Amino acid sequence: MKAKEIVLIGGGHAHALALKALADRDRAKFSITLVSPSRWQHYSGMVPGWMTGQYELEACQMDLRQIADHAGARFVEDWAVGLDATRGCVFLSDGSHLPFDALSLDVGAEVDTTWLTALHDKLLPVKPMADFARLWQSLLARADLPPAFKLAIVGGGAAGVEVSLAAAAGLRKAQVNPTMALITGRRGLLPDHPPGVRQQVERALSRASVQVVAQQAVGIEGGVMLDDGLELPLDAAIAATGSRAPVWLSLTKLDLNEQGFVSVNACHQSTSHPNVFAAGDVCSRTDRAITRSGVHAVRAGPILAHNLIAWLQGRPMKEHEPRRWPLQLISTGPTNAVASWGPLSASGNWVWRLKDQIDRRFMRSLLVREGLPNRPREGQTP
Ligand SMILES: Cc1cc2nc3c(=O)[nH]c(=O)nc-3n(C[C@H](O)[C@H](O)[C@H](O)COP(=O)(O)OP(=O)(O)OC[C@H]3O[C@@H](n4cnc5c(N)ncnc54)[C@H](O)[C@@H]3O)c2cc1C
Repeated sequence: MKAKEIVLIGGGHAHALALKALADRDRAKFSITLVSPSRWQHYSGMVPGWMTGQYELEACQMDLRQIADHAGARFVEDWAVGLDATRGCVFLSDGSHLPFDALSLDVGAEVDTTWLTALHDKLLPVKPMADFARLWQSLLARADLPPAFKLAIVGGGAAGVEVSLAAAAGLRKAQVNPTMALITGRRGLLPDHPPGVRQQVERALSRASVQVVAQQAVGIEGGVMLDDGLELPLDAAIAATGSRAPVWLSLTKLDLNEQGFVSVNACHQSTSHPNVFAAGDVCSRTDRAITRSGVHAVRAGPILAHNLIAWLQGRPMKEHEPRRWPLQLISTGPTNAVASWGPLSASGNWVWRLKDQIDRRFMRSLLVREGLPNRPREGQTP
């Protein structure tokens, strides 16, 4: 009997973990293809540490081709650009198509830069992370960086905070003395975290001389304009603004929520097409609200793997019960981090060491064979 075709689109956190779990399947019965525009997937948890010089860039990269190889999956280096879920066919940017019996989407979310486009090449969106890493590297390498470099980070969530503090440390290490603002929008700094976390992060930002501006910013020629009409001239701006769903999904006939994310049930199965699953930032659960975070994506991976096979075999699927209080560790510089867990918070060097340990363990767990070139190098532990 012909093997059933499972196609995984995107090499995000959820699919990396799903592939690990799928390595044990009956390979004669289930054939898997992973589609990703690059074999290298940057791990967002460690990229701020790379900006401060804690990690080599290669230590922050998952090797998707290797993960696919280990799972006995085919790796296709391309973008998915369209999908006919009823006929079971996904279209790739090179004009080819892949038929599938079951499909899973883990393509993440995009950074919404709609209000900042006037900044042109001064704008560095944090995603796609590979592009961000390249842009940040070339910015630091510029010989003509003014000594009083003016940088704004737009976005008051955990990513905006981590990137602000990492950028401040990275620039000072490069002998640049930046003038920095973190523009949070009207909801202010870390609106979804408890007051204790906010206070500790505020202290870290103040120590790093990053000014917090709780206003909306619009890109203008040469900088940004704030709500109160003040214009901030800038040398560069990093966008860590809210997530936006990938536009191509709107042409797929899948059920989407109001923001364009793929609507899924508790088994992470599309509410319109049972042969389609989705996990990570690209999905929206219809039974409950889940924040978009790597932690949730990682934990959904093994359940997704189980459900893809179970659905193809007509067996019962599992529901994914996300943690009510996922532990969030926000790095606040080269040697410090803040922990946010439900209403509780803590900070200090021990939190940073805990985060470092968790991140390294996660990356090691994805290195499926010993001695390969992208093994994490030892960072500079404080
Ligand atoms: C600076 C920063 C720090 C962060 N730190 C943390 C943290 O410490 N903890 C935490 O929980 N969360 C953190 N986050 C959030 C976290 O990055 C996301 O929630 C997480 O990456 C979501 O994972 P995902 O599985 O949805 O997919 P992603 O990690 O977004 O990956 C999606 C993949 O799909 C690929 N793709 C996209 N479109 C297509 C297509 N059309 N065809 C094929 N492939 C495609 C992309 O290239 C990418 O490889 C951070 C975010 C940022 C920006």
